[in-house]
Amino acid sequence: MLDQSGSPTAEALHAPVLRWYDANARVLPWREPDAGAWAVMVSEFMLQQTPVSRVLPAYEAWLERWPKPVDLAVEPPGEAVRAWDRLGYPRRALRLHAAAQAIVERHGGDVPDDHAALLALPGVGTYTAAAIASFAFGQRHAVVDTNVRRVLARALTGVAQPTISPTAADQRLAVSALPADEPTAARWAVASMELGALVCTARTPRCGDCPIRSRCAWVLAGSPPYDGPPRRGQTYEGTDRQARGRLLAVLRAASGAVPKKTLDASWPDATQRDRALDGLVADGLVEPLGRNRYRLPS
Ligand code: SF4
Repeated sequence: MLDQSGSPTAEALHAPVLRWYDANARVLPWREPDAGAWAVMVSEFMLQQTPVSRVLPAYEAWLERWPKPVDLAVEPPGEAVRAWDRLGYPRRALRLHAAAQAIVERHGGDVPDDHAALLALPGVGTYTAAAIASFAFGQRHAVVDTNVRRVLARALTGVAQPTISPTAADQRLAVSALPADEPTAARWAVASMELGALVCTARTPRCGDCPIRSRCAWVLAGSPPYDGPPRRGQTYEGTDRQARGRLLAVLRAASGAVPKKTLDASWPDATQRDRALDGLVADGLVEPLGRNRYRLPS
């Protein structure tokens, strides 16, 4: 199905993508019918900047220890930081802890199903609120992550890559692509995301295996190469992020306060190490104590 300008329409993509998803979706614990909204929420916090393979063990351990928001809410935030292990971007652990406390205080311990109430929780932005409302409660929302942006950019607008940063136009395109009825929209949200994760990948899309190859605007245009600004991969070695990770690893492994000289042994560059430690303190991930000692937040 093409629109008046000859471009493929979103409606033409729904049925083939949904059929493909039914046959090819990965079996993931947060997608199980009985997973519950808290499990979906935990998975969404963890998956934002971390691949599924690294998330799975941390997710299982997290829900084993804190099966409900209240179980996490009564713990010190440092325990959330400790359990975050090496998932990276550990401020997410603090935000998830704060969200659990807000869920207990405002919603009696149950993750709310209302989109505005979700959006009002600490650490829950537009994407996460839409993802929880859609994946956990079957509502109709545009759930726009990197994978969805890429699929829609290629299939509907015919470009090789979406813009480097998300834009309001991405959101509008995703809203316009939603199926009209709520249950189908919720399935489309997860199915289009899975297609981006497994088939329409960033570097080498597997168009030969794609259920919408005959309708994809980018393929129909002859698969023109990317001609936008250079896209740089993130480096980690030698960065302040790596230094922060080393310092946090020492603190996670300790049961109590750690002397500064123990932290000093974890990173050779004193200037970078002190900058990283100051940053961790400023972010609330590390608590300074007297006599030059540090610990995870209590
Ligand atoms: S045909 Fe290729 S570019 Fe188009 S949506 Fe499928 S995998 Fe992506």
